[in-house]
Amino acid sequence: MATFADDDSAISRTLFPMKKDGLITALILVGLVAGAILGQLLHGGAVDPVGTGESWMSLGKLVLVRPLMLLVLPLVFLSVIVGVTSIGDPSRLGIVGGSTLLYYFATMLAAVVLGAVLVTAIAPGAGLPEEAVASLQSQGLAEYEENTGLKGAMGTASEKGLGGAWMNILEQVIPSNFFAELANGRTLGVIVFALLLGLALAAIGPAGEPAIATLRSLFDGTMRLVLWVLWLTPIGVFLLVTGTVAKIGLNALWGPLGAYMLTVLLGLGIHAFVTLPGVLAVFSRANPYKFMFQMRKALLTAFGTDSSSATLPVTIETAIDDGGCSRRSANFVLPLGATVNMDGTALYEAVAVVFMFQLWGIPLELGDLVIVVVTATLAAVGAAGIPSAGLVTMVIVVTAVNTSLAGRGIEPLPLEAIGVIIGVDRILDMCRTTVNVWGDAVGAKLVTRLAPDDEDALEKAAG
Ligand code: ASP
Repeated sequence: MATFADDDSAISRTLFPMKKDGLITALILVGLVAGAILGQLLHGGAVDPVGTGESWMSLGKLVLVRPLMLLVLPLVFLSVIVGVTSIGDPSRLGIVGGSTLLYYFATMLAAVVLGAVLVTAIAPGAGLPEEAVASLQSQGLAEYEENTGLKGAMGTASEKGLGGAWMNILEQVIPSNFFAELANGRTLGVIVFALLLGLALAAIGPAGEPAIATLRSLFDGTMRLVLWVLWLTPIGVFLLVTGTVAKIGLNALWGPLGAYMLTVLLGLGIHAFVTLPGVLAVFSRANPYKFMFQMRKALLTAFGTDSSSATLPVTIETAIDDGGCSRRSANFVLPLGATVNMDGTALYEAVAVVFMFQLWGIPLELGDLVIVVVTATLAAVGAAGIPSAGLVTMVIVVTAVNTSLAGRGIEPLPLEAIGVIIGVDRILDMCRTTVNVWGDAVGAKLVTRLAPDDEDALEKAAG
């Protein structure tokens, strides 16, 4: 049987030739468009609705999200070890890791500042007729009460506040039980352990080689599983999009929340089509739009599944096979990115929070906006790559701004205000998840220059 363990540049060519690659993208697109159309028909009641959007979404989760999620943690563990051991030299790894983190924080900050500027300039929550505001507020409060799951999660996040969010991140960075990290899906803890183990295996020289070879072949085997699961993407995306649109309806864009949604979408658009391509063009010789096209399978999967974590297997496969990213870079940068780098979420949180304050008529000063920028970045880092995670961690931002307002004796924003945006969140979540994954991919492409697969080029890059 053929083994791909030593064929680093093309894990999958024989199973997944270019022609089939095109076919799968076309099928995903068909699933997406068909889902949007059917969803809209179901939403308007034009065809007999089979249950609510929820049942379509549950089916979509069964078909696509669960199989992908099954692969995520093994892949994170194996991918980081393979990445770290192939980069080898710890000082080289320090440069790669440092640049990666710098890129993550700089782009998240750029996204969140853009969001804060746009929402302040457009002011989608200000100037609405009084009755519209009153009805939005009461609908929002009812929605919040109904959503018991989210309500619980938000309550906990608010109680723990900013300190709790830091503590949660720190506890993952210093894990105490590897299996507990795995069992609880705490990806950051798994990454940290894989990183340390990878460094140790590289440090023991020949004694580490058998383990490294085994882990590499396990990684390649898991990637083969990813390719199989990829065939489920079109149908999964179809079901998930049908469910989402059936529930929310595309006409939400023209409703009272339309201006808010368009502000988020405009920000995401600018970040995805201007800022990130600009960064890529300046710091690497790659054509950013060509790269975006090469990454289409991962971007469409992110849009459909609403989860950067579930998309991670596809992101790694696409970045290496289609996007020309080195395995050294993709294996290391993408798992970390899917966990901490969330440009779309950061931007969205800034817009959403300021919008709610506008709707409740609470004026924010420049200092409050700075708090929004800082805490939204942290909240995005703390958000897991799963649907609605950004909605929950947003509570941290609201609580921080409320504390600052309390210092000036201003009435705080009730947490229940988040109910106003819950209803339309899924559509925005699909878009911000796509931007999150795009940001990770751009990072992998940039770091490819620092950690190319070619040994000679690596020496050169090392100076
Ligand atoms: N769904 C997003 C992701 O998976 C996280 C969020 O913003 O809710 O990247």
